[in-house]
Amino acid sequence: MEGRRVLTSFDRFKRFSLNLLDFFLPRLCLFCGGVVAESAAAAVCPDCETGIEWVASPVCPCCGLIFPVPEGEDRFCGTCRTEPPPFARARAAAIYEGPVAQAVTRFKFGRQMAYLPVMQHWLQIPRCAELAADADLLIPVPLHSKRLKFRGFNQALLLARAFPEAEVGLETLARVRYTAPQVGLNPKQRRDNVHRAFAVPRPEEVKGKKVLLVDDLYTTGATVRECARVLKRAGAKRVEVLTVARVKHE
Ligand SMILES: [Zn+2]
Ligand SMILES: [Zn+2]
Repeated sequence: MEGRRVLTSFDRFKRFSLNLLDFFLPRLCLFCGGVVAESAAAAVCPDCETGIEWVASPVCPCCGLIFPVPEGEDRFCGTCRTEPPPFARARAAAIYEGPVAQAVTRFKFGRQMAYLPVMQHWLQIPRCAELAADADLLIPVPLHSKRLKFRGFNQALLLARAFPEAEVGLETLARVRYTAPQVGLNPKQRRDNVHRAFAVPRPEEVKGKKVLLVDDLYTTGATVRECARVLKRAGAKRVEVLTVARVKHE
């Protein structure tokens, strides 16, 4: 009896101490472990925040390409002039470098869910949120069921949840062919790899709609081009693309 009472009071003490720790422990930066102000919207310290390179003009107004020399106005890139993509515009919050690259890879491959709210927060910057507000339907780039089973979640779907008021098409776009990862492939190989990999099983879900494709990373755009092609063929009125990050130079 006596022993049980001691244990019980120890449990109470433990719970009390944990509550105290919760109260006093500062929030730590996900990237360097430094202290973050309690009022901060996301767990990124000011130092790491300055390491984020936000996408800024001049960019291609169509594909969002970042020009190697950051001079002049926004202008169409050579590819969009000669071979316009099936989407109207592609936008990304930040460049795939530093903390942004860490967040994308640790979340997707390391399954570190703590990075999700940070990336959702990045997607909510006005320049990106504007695309979601102007869309009838958000479509996360789908994973093949085999990859979904392996990873356990679709990062694009969780990112689309950054816009809780938006309608999200969960199975509007389907990945009908298993493809090798795009990593390590050149642009031509990437295009061939995703060719005929997607389908719209119920075209009435996209017919006449303004669709926004959501994904974590834009590299050469091969995947979203193929998605957009299939969506337009199924009757989508317009397709746009929003990603958290974008590779600076393809
Ligand atoms: Zn930090
Ligand atoms: Zn372009």
